[in-house]
Amino acid sequence: MTATVIDGKAFAAKVRAQVAEGVAALKDADGITPGLAVVLVGEDPASQVYVRSKGKMTKEVGMASFEYKLDVDTSEADLLALIEKLNADPAVHGILVQLPLPDHLDSDLVINSIDPAKDVDGFHISNVGLLGTGQKSMVPCTPLGSLMMLRDHHESLSGLNAVVIGRSNIVGKPMAQLLLGDSCTVTIAHSRTKDLPAVVRQADIVVAAVGRPQMVTGDWIKPGATVIDVGINRIEKTEGGTRLVGDVDYDSCAAVAGAITPVPGGVGPMTIACLLANTLTACCRAHRLPEPEGLTV
Ligand code: NAD
Repeated sequence: MTATVIDGKAFAAKVRAQVAEGVAALKDADGITPGLAVVLVGEDPASQVYVRSKGKMTKEVGMASFEYKLDVDTSEADLLALIEKLNADPAVHGILVQLPLPDHLDSDLVINSIDPAKDVDGFHISNVGLLGTGQKSMVPCTPLGSLMMLRDHHESLSGLNAVVIGRSNIVGKPMAQLLLGDSCTVTIAHSRTKDLPAVVRQADIVVAAVGRPQMVTGDWIKPGATVIDVGINRIEKTEGGTRLVGDVDYDSCAAVAGAITPVPGGVGPMTIACLLANTLTACCRAHRLPEPEGLTV
């Protein structure tokens, strides 16, 4: 079997187009411009790239982008004061604090100081609780994008066996909650799981969010399964230079799976598209306007 490639890049372009339509409609009908504030502390090169591309795409869909670049030694009090200001600003509908934060800052404290209604990353403890109890929340972008691709590919997820590899608060746990919400039978596997290949072999849906290059190989995959590769790892090429690979060994898995997301061009583009979708959703909720269909769970 050769797997269908789930094209995250094309899917993300569709989501962004839908967001842009929603933004234009809000401006025309209600004179409202959704706004996203991104806060970066320090000069981590990867974070700088993410923040730049988030700002660019925010403007491309017609939203207002507010970027705050703070010194690496910014105090917790100053960061919390900025977040308080953004919480109170009616032009700001979404607030994202780029992680990881420098060591002297308490990430949990900082994230939990964001107004949950503006927490477009979905990491605030209130949103975690709402998602866990099946209530309307802000849903973390990477799992939301992964779920959108799964829903698009499968007529129904109900009753399917899903194995999520990784139990992080950012990806693994919320992904498992979303799959449970769609009535999958969910297993969360992690670094202490015994005989991981045997566990993964039971799965109709595999979501790999581990951070280990090409760990999942074709002999772990049940024929016809859908494989969502969240991992982003940079490895050395034999001919020199580097390239991006996922947590899944693409070639061996694509030979067995029914469908698979590539890296790059799979989950990655969907993450930013879902950040924009969440900002639009947050704006609609703030103004008690109907939410656009299909952009959240
Ligand atoms: P994390 O380090 O917080 O969590 C990794 C998880 O993998 C842990 O729960 C751990 O138990 C599990 N794990 C580690 N080694 C394992 C092993 N040998 N077998 C089974 N499980 C093992 O990472 P994260 O933030 O969840 O990110 C995971 C990957 O996803 C990384 O490669 C990251 O770069 C990528 N990521 C991609 C996007 C995107 O937009 N595509 C977004 C977030 C994270």
